[in-house]
Amino acid sequence: MKNISLQKAPFSVPELPYGHDALAPHISAETIEYHYGKHLKAYVDNLNNLVTGSGFEDATLKEILKNASGALFNNAAQVWNHTLYFRQFLPNPKTAPTSVLGATIARDFGSFEAFKEQFTRSAMSLFGSGWTWLVADKAGRLSIENTSNAGIPMSDGKNALMVIDVWEHAYYIDHRNARAKSIEAFWNILNWEVAEERYAK
Ligand code: MN
Repeated sequence: MKNISLQKAPFSVPELPYGHDALAPHISAETIEYHYGKHLKAYVDNLNNLVTGSGFEDATLKEILKNASGALFNNAAQVWNHTLYFRQFLPNPKTAPTSVLGATIARDFGSFEAFKEQFTRSAMSLFGSGWTWLVADKAGRLSIENTSNAGIPMSDGKNALMVIDVWEHAYYIDHRNARAKSIEAFWNILNWEVAEERYAK
């Protein structure tokens, strides 16, 4: 898959590595239809419109994220966030990371179960709209971070390994107001191999 950070305008909605109904019942086809097909599509369209005449016409998405502000930054970040989010799922994945990432999660959080609990608490405590991330710093040390609205950990030089979208638009169709249920469902389809690959970079 193309590295979204290095793409330039015109941007397009990323291809999904699974069918629209493949993640059900954890994420339904109807949620994919709205969240991917309408919300993400709108961010992509807004980004393409805002780039025109901005001076960022020949910039990569990463350069836009580093240097733009306001609506252009927000729509660029939502394209980047959602691309990472939608590419990290798989029906019936392995349920825990192995390899170096598995060992490092145990080192930095005590155990995989302790990590899951801490990540879940962090996602539950995020007030309003935003994202909860597993990130690595330049030394490879792991931490959990929340960002509000379109905020991205790249702003602090961190490598994003996996992420949950806790905007209500991500879960309202399947779980109504129950964010906790959407987080429970998330663990059933998170493709740890993608996080392992991102950590190895
Ligand atoms: Mn979203």
